[in-house]
Amino acid sequence: MVCVATIGSHSALQILKGAKMEGLKTLLLCLKGREGIYARYGLADEIVKIDSPEDLLRGDVQERLLESGAILVPHGTLISGGRLEEFERGFRPPVFGNRYIFRWEFDRVLKDHLLREAGIRIPKKFECPEDVDRPVMVKLPGAEGGRGYFVARDGKDLDRKLNEVVKRGLLKREEIDRIFIQEYILGVTLYPHYFYSPMLERLELLGCDRRYESNVDGIGRICAKDQLELDLIPTFRVIGNIPIVLRESLLTEVFDAGERFIAAARRLVPPGMIGPFCLEMVCDEEGRLYTFEFSGRIVAGTNLFIEGSPYSSLLFDEPMSMGRRIAREIKLALGEGKIERVTT
Ligand code: AMP
Repeated sequence: MVCVATIGSHSALQILKGAKMEGLKTLLLCLKGREGIYARYGLADEIVKIDSPEDLLRGDVQERLLESGAILVPHGTLISGGRLEEFERGFRPPVFGNRYIFRWEFDRVLKDHLLREAGIRIPKKFECPEDVDRPVMVKLPGAEGGRGYFVARDGKDLDRKLNEVVKRGLLKREEIDRIFIQEYILGVTLYPHYFYSPMLERLELLGCDRRYESNVDGIGRICAKDQLELDLIPTFRVIGNIPIVLRESLLTEVFDAGERFIAAARRLVPPGMIGPFCLEMVCDEEGRLYTFEFSGRIVAGTNLFIEGSPYSSLLFDEPMSMGRRIAREIKLALGEGKIERVTT
């Protein structure tokens, strides 16, 4: 008997619930201090306590997973923990999805390479501050989750802000060539939740969300005069997610971008996409979609749709969360004796 295992954080409740709905056993790798929250929902058949996501590299933890027939469903916590090459090589239990893609998600240079290979529209990248001729988003080395980002109006403004960042000790002068400078796209952010099914050989769109970010989404609540006087610096820390349904005319491009991404991942990161992924987009005033990031695994915005979304109900006549869809794919693969098609 196999069981679905995941780290206790991010989208774990949804993943466990989805596995249960499909009649699979569940195992929770519970971070110390979080036992209480998972006990409240009682969705884990087995609990293995860990101190940090890095404990997945420990021999005894892996033994326990192997004994339980666990298939690990990875999520954002695994990626943010780093040490992904060690995970690729040293983690022995099967992983649902492509374990080799996580490094490409984590590393900004690889990420950019894969998005370019896909041939989808991406914001212009500036190789050096001197080339900047328009509003840009600057991502400092090691920045993640929207912290360590700032917006600059033009080259002059960028220069001033970089000096400021160096002065404040947030960046060393010799690190300036490692900053990532991207055209700032003014528009609506969109995070389509894709699922690629190797068993059905089809790309599905199961939902879409926007992120609610602090403080940038709070700035609009104060009047322009106060905004100017306060000399605010926008930050982009994700606080929660809001559902969004797209204009139907955008769906063609959303699917096209998803298909191109799948094709590129197959070429650069074999065996390519398996299961959930997300392209992080901004839609400008002309309705053009720009992809500025990707996630090669389940995103937390899917937590909105435990009972399904407007998109999942077009495909399934039952509530289909991303967590449940993962479990369904595992069952389909097991039924045909082809679990290796959905795991790495
Ligand atoms: P990330 O950590 O890359 O997901 O980015 C955090 C947030 O920064 C996003 O959700 C967007 O609000 C914003 N962002 C990142 N890159 C861009 C861009 N090129 N243009 C506009 N907004 C962006």
